[in-house]
Amino acid sequence: MASGCAASASRGNGLEKLPNSSIRVLRTVSAVRRWRRPHLLDQRSVALVPTMGALHEGHLSLIRAAARENHHVVVSLYVNPAQFGVREDLASYPVTWDADAEALVRLDRELADDGHNLGRISAVFAPTTAEMYPGGFPGQEVDSKGSFVTITPVGELLEGRSRPTFFRGVATVCMKLFNIVQPERVYFGQKDVQQTVVIKRLVRDFMLPIEVVVCPTARAEEDGLALSSRNVYLGPRRRAVAPVLYNALRAAEDAYTGGARDRATVLGAAESLAARVLAEQTALGPEKRVRFEVDYLSLADPDTMEELEVVDPAKGGILSGAVKMLPVEAPGEGEDLGHSGGPPVRLIDNIILPGIETKSD
Ligand code: AMP
Repeated sequence: MASGCAASASRGNGLEKLPNSSIRVLRTVSAVRRWRRPHLLDQRSVALVPTMGALHEGHLSLIRAAARENHHVVVSLYVNPAQFGVREDLASYPVTWDADAEALVRLDRELADDGHNLGRISAVFAPTTAEMYPGGFPGQEVDSKGSFVTITPVGELLEGRSRPTFFRGVATVCMKLFNIVQPERVYFGQKDVQQTVVIKRLVRDFMLPIEVVVCPTARAEEDGLALSSRNVYLGPRRRAVAPVLYNALRAAEDAYTGGARDRATVLGAAESLAARVLAEQTALGPEKRVRFEVDYLSLADPDTMEELEVVDPAKGGILSGAVKMLPVEAPGEGEDLGHSGGPPVRLIDNIILPGIETKSD
């Protein structure tokens, strides 16, 4: 991070570009403001796609959607320490600037060649933590003092229960990013469904003139695992079992589609599938097996994320869950355990149960 200050001094003029492209690299708030001002005057729409880098197809799908509907797309790449708990993986979170830059340049060419887009990737915003927290970074502890945005109760449920500072960190950094970039539209993935609910609340409750667009979850073609920057931690053995969460949610979805409306039946289908996979794995023994813990399986209201006893079919619901993949116990000779030696990996996923009478919304 120390070298980031030097970089922003020498390259913070906003004239740097990603190699072989017209994509500006903006590193400071003032550089973004200088870039933004003319587009306010010429009424060209600006979209923001916030990311923590380590880009994959899920991120790229958000950028594609943004380019279809806006004249300019700004992609932010910033690993926000405030949304990591003190015992989480901030230090090992994958940082892949060169690969990210190449992916963005490639995607920008694709957008230019495809006649259906209104815009392209105009800029990348890659600030330092000193730039994002001008009063000094307040820390990752639950009782840290500083300027925070908290969205409760939704931010305290589900993911918020397991990660008490997570949504405070997300809402705070998004408020900052929205104020810096002043986008007309922001693009988020359904993959992090509770985050989309928190961001919609933030926009509504603080009267931000922003449209929140939610894009579908991008999944691995072969088995439906939701793409995630954290999948690199898994290694092949755990990667093979990781779709257990999505398969469990699909079992619950099947129960709903088959007519079940009550929590016990719908979630029971997911719980049985997860229990069956865990039993199969346990029987394999330490040299072969994968261990995991189900953190939660939830059936919740789509607007509040409060747990539902019965789904109102007019409104639908959100099936979601989190599974912690535990480290491999007995690695084979030379076994690839994944990025950073294969630490515990928390996977999240969700499926929206559609409301049956929502078409006229
Ligand atoms: P992250 O870099 O993990 O903070 O994610 C940045 C944005 O990409 C968030 O809006 C995520 O919801 C979205 N995203 C992450 N994974 C996926 C995925 N598999 N499909 C669609 N969007 C995703």
